Amino acid sequence: MTTESRGDAHQGDAIASRRSVAPTAPALAPTVVPAEGIAWSDLDQDALRVLSRLSRAGAQAYLVGGCVRDLLLGRKPKDFDVATSAHPRQIKKLFRNGRIIGRRFKLVHVTYGVRVIETATFRREPARTEFEQDLLIVEDNEFGTAAEDALRRDFTINALFLDVAAQDGELRILDYVQGLPDIEEGILRTIGDPSVRMAEDPVRILRAVKFATRLGFRIETSTWQAMCSHAKQLERSAKPRVLEEIWRLLRSGTALGAVRMLRACGALSVILPPIDQFLGASDDPDPAAHDRADSYWRLLEALDANVHQGAAPSTAVLLAVLFLRLVERESDPATRTLEGPPGDLGLVFDEVVGEFAASARIPRRELSQARRIVLVQRRFTQPASKRFRPLWFVRSEEFPEALHLFQLRSMAWGQGWDVYEAWVERAERAKTLTPEEVEGLAPKTRRRRRRRGGQGRGAEQGAGEGQGEQEGESDAGGNDFG
Ligand code: ATP
Ligand code: MG
Repeated sequence: MTTESRGDAHQGDAIASRRSVAPTAPALAPTVVPAEGIAWSDLDQDALRVLSRLSRAGAQAYLVGGCVRDLLLGRKPKDFDVATSAHPRQIKKLFRNGRIIGRRFKLVHVTYGVRVIETATFRREPARTEFEQDLLIVEDNEFGTAAEDALRRDFTINALFLDVAAQDGELRILDYVQGLPDIEEGILRTIGDPSVRMAEDPVRILRAVKFATRLGFRIETSTWQAMCSHAKQLERSAKPRVLEEIWRLLRSGTALGAVRMLRACGALSVILPPIDQFLGASDDPDPAAHDRADSYWRLLEALDANVHQGAAPSTAVLLAVLFLRLVERESDPATRTLEGPPGDLGLVFDEVVGEFAASARIPRRELSQARRIVLVQRRFTQPASKRFRPLWFVRSEEFPEALHLFQLRSMAWGQGWDVYEAWVERAERAKTLTPEEVEGLAPKTRRRRRRRGGQGRGAEQGAGEGQGEQEGESDAGGNDFG
């Protein structure tokens, strides 16, 4: 099939299968080519075992998705997924170490020690009637052929099969969607009509950003246009899926590029409205707006550099990174945009993050961790005193994540490296302390009269922040990030 005919053919297929009550299998033959650049030694032994047993039982079975894409690009796959013509119960029968999972769409996890080979039956997109105007997919659980399974996937580069079962021992790629030329040229393109595919599942917009930034691929023009025109519909996607993709983007090592791309296609204002507002329009002539965005980018740049060094930021740290600049802005009377004078830092954090956290369904635990690590930042530059014992702070629950945020701030603004290193040293020293020595380090606090009934305001406090506050020191004027 030529490149020219491909788009139309696929658009036709996708729409035909969407409009008919009982779609027939697309009569597509794959392009079959030797898997150049992939060696047997690149393949996971356990995945090969799964493929071999399925194929001995007479089923079609291939490696599929991200692992094939990554192998072709010379990258190390995160995991190896198998797609097969065998149905879940048939798969289960072949593997004692197999477990059927999933309620709506069943697949089999074949486990080898801690490793899991996800083995899924070929699927097709669900049948729809002509009267179903709404394209959003809510069910995705019909079995299909290899060709249908390729067509229901999101991007051409994600729909290649790797066949290991050829008689001559050659590894082959089965390409139903012209994904190989896109891999070679570095192009990210939806399978079928981009507008239909983004409407079916707007989370694909976030996935497009993830793959384009991670792999350095160019997004094909009509795919990009569909991302822009469907960005608003991300509102309708399941919140946990959206949140999961946000964390993945931030942990990808290309968070800066990803957030910029989200902003450019209009998705940022839907999934992270306060951040979009903070950054303002990219063509705002006001130099203050430019500086604000610039300082934001520097923190994301630091996060990326840190991830490249091997760091794995927790969700709370990511949340803190996302909102730190906003909290700082609103806690400073000179830059505040919200009504009234700023309250203490905790209140400002709630003002800035609260509404977003509720609507994005951020788990409460992670929200309160993020809040705490932002609140205790000033401890890093607070002089030791009878009531503030650095080693006691070091032993507090929130210390490692708070230090991680402090490290990112130092990286972003090039200040406080010596301070950061001194805290790392202290943390090492603290590990050698005996319980008695730790007890001796407890800050001297005035006894507070216990309130009857309630837990009082100390309920949420950890050792780090509580130290200062117990002596009546509050976070008022909390713009002091020192
Ligand atoms: P990663 O390396 O990040 O895991 P991946 O391509 O393996 O990338 P997964 O989220 O693990 O991505 O999904 C596995 C495969 O399932 C994809 O390669 C793609 O073929 C298919 N897929 C995943 N999500 C979607 C989606 N929303 N719509 C269509 N196909 C999808
Ligand atoms: Mg994967």
